[in-house]
Amino acid sequence: MKGIVFTGNRQVELRNFEDPTPGPGEVVLEIKASGMCGSDLKFYRSAPGEAMKALGFAPGTEVIAGHEPCGVVVAVGANVNPKQARIGQRVMVHHYRGCGACPHCSTGWQQLCVEGVAEVYGVTGHGGHARYMKCPANTLVTLPDALTFETGAAISCGTGTAWGALKRMDLAGEQTIAIFGQGPVGLSATQLASALGARVIALDVSPQRLARAKAFGADVVINPTEVDAVAAIRELTHGLGAHATLDASSSAEARRQCVQSVRTWGKACLVGEGGQMTMDVSPDMLRRQVTLIGSWTFSTVGQKECAEFIADRGIEVDRLFTERWSLEQADEAYQLFDSQTSGKGVFLL
Ligand SMILES: [Zn+2]
Ligand SMILES: [Zn+2]
Repeated sequence: MKGIVFTGNRQVELRNFEDPTPGPGEVVLEIKASGMCGSDLKFYRSAPGEAMKALGFAPGTEVIAGHEPCGVVVAVGANVNPKQARIGQRVMVHHYRGCGACPHCSTGWQQLCVEGVAEVYGVTGHGGHARYMKCPANTLVTLPDALTFETGAAISCGTGTAWGALKRMDLAGEQTIAIFGQGPVGLSATQLASALGARVIALDVSPQRLARAKAFGADVVINPTEVDAVAAIRELTHGLGAHATLDASSSAEARRQCVQSVRTWGKACLVGEGGQMTMDVSPDMLRRQVTLIGSWTFSTVGQKECAEFIADRGIEVDRLFTERWSLEQADEAYQLFDSQTSGKGVFLL
């Protein structure tokens, strides 16, 4: 089969790989949709091996990209409980492999494995940008019948990550949330927070992305290059600041504004990967009783809960995808995604 590989310095190649066969406890999926996630850009842009080192993973052999896999089970290995996987089942993948037995792995958080995450699919293990993908049966999450494979792909990282952050903040319907960055994760957060009943203030430096945020349920949009974002958020919230704020931009400036624009006793959450932030600790945090939360993706349980919420509320997650590509178009697909002006892309197989 052919699989997309990031070779570094904004180069992608379609390379040949052997079709996978499942070992004990494993399954093979036929991939139907494989999403493009913002964090892919780190690996796409960096010099060979650099981004992996920065994220704390040992640079390994070349792997098939894509960590938003969604498809159908086509082969089941030995010792797989039929309740975990059966041929023909429509599934998403919780895209990590840990030891499978430690306290974090056994509660569905294999990315937090005490032995260190063994594989992150699409980064240190073969991911979804190919016809077939092998993974442990205990990392599968059933895709509700009402959802398309594209929606399942989005939930498998970007949209699920937005859900995980909103749950970490216990966002409630009567609250106002300010969401910094309206890329795929931020826009998903806008869509989900709005569906939860919250009032959403969406921020981005791109007018196109702000227009999309409006269409996805944002009540107010703010371009921080045009106004003082913190003052604007306070003005929209009776001078108090938002109940919850979320940074999905990874910008140091937005992170500072994210903390400063949350109200006293409020919760600020960081979900964008990489980079640094600086804060004036006393006025920005201590003297206002601010809770600062770091949120990394979600558990298998959270992924299932997110999918069921989306199915039950009829949320149109497929609208996140602005481009649909074949594997052969990988080069064009990542060039466009790299420009950060478009929405989210997905490979359909
Ligand atoms: Zn573990
Ligand atoms: Zn991702």
